[in-house]
Amino acid sequence: MGKGDILSKRFLDELEIRGLSRRDFLKYCTATAAILGISEFEFTTKVAHALQTASKKPPVIWFAGQACTGCTISFAQSLNPPAAAIVLDKISLRYHMSVMAAAGDLSERVLHDTIKEGGYIFIFEGSIPASDDRYWMHGKEPGRKVFEQIAKEAAAILAVGACSAYGGIPRAGPTKGISVNDALKRAGINKTAVNISTCPVHPDHLVGTILYVIVTGKVPELDAKGRPAMYFGDKRLLHDDCRRRGHFDAGEFLTDWNDPKQKDWCLFQKGCKGPMAYVDCSIRRWNDGINFCLDCGGLCQACGDPLFYDKVSPLYTADSETSKKIWAMREAGIFKQEKS
Ligand code: SF4
Ligand code: SF4
Ligand code: SF4
Repeated sequence: MGKGDILSKRFLDELEIRGLSRRDFLKYCTATAAILGISEFEFTTKVAHALQTASKKPPVIWFAGQACTGCTISFAQSLNPPAAAIVLDKISLRYHMSVMAAAGDLSERVLHDTIKEGGYIFIFEGSIPASDDRYWMHGKEPGRKVFEQIAKEAAAILAVGACSAYGGIPRAGPTKGISVNDALKRAGINKTAVNISTCPVHPDHLVGTILYVIVTGKVPELDAKGRPAMYFGDKRLLHDDCRRRGHFDAGEFLTDWNDPKQKDWCLFQKGCKGPMAYVDCSIRRWNDGINFCLDCGGLCQACGDPLFYDKVSPLYTADSETSKKIWAMREAGIFKQEKS
């Protein structure tokens, strides 16, 4: 049986309506299978089966605490390419306060009915204030209490973005924002959230993790920081795949943006924290593979790691605690690459 045969006529019609060829869909499956570490055929079969036969779409609650809504915007981008949109179409996003049409009592009824049903995927964006509940109210009650009600009945919890994974930017402010896992611990809820960090969440990381849960019924393998090992992991250093890496080793650091000779030099002196970033941005890139921070003259702030934000600040100099550590490690020869 060829790979194309496992797609039903109805599913092929659905692809066509969305302007996606069978070939493009299978290409998307192939790329995802490689990341998930299972055979392309097994993955395509499982995905096609799951997507075609799902009689009941897995319910999803997306709830936000102290957040800027940037992760929601990133999620909305996963509707393009259309292959990712097809995957997302197979979930039932019951509640999302920024994108749902319903408001007020109606939206709250949907939320509470879904909680009563239980067994949903709970996606949380933002952090939870630790210093005072009043920093985050949901209607008349503390958002923390609603968060706890939702978490108790969830089948899987995904903490999206740096804020929910480790506290992120709010951790550095007066609210002392904490992560989803710390909030679960404080509430005595014996569950572990998957940390899909970076600020904002990478759409591929989110879609791939949702797909993994739909297809296998479990959460993916996690690294030591509670993140999907297939995208992060403590051996995948962004710095090693950076095209400016040779200049770091040679001690050629950009100090003057206006000097054309320095254009491609290492951005460490301008505040790059890539040598502490364990994430696949330099390979996967962003915006459907078009570019990423370092290739458009930006700096890496290790936004997927627990260091972000307080320990990488100030952002645009090499004066942060993290930059000083990077320099000491460089001097000690820790980043030396094997010559091939
Ligand atoms: S992780 Fe970044 S983009 Fe997402 S809510 Fe927090 S500050 Fe906004
Ligand atoms: S410090 Fe930043 S710019 Fe320099 S090589 Fe590493 S990741 Fe690239
Ligand atoms: S390159 Fe660095 S700052 Fe940019 S998204 Fe990736 S981890 Fe975050």
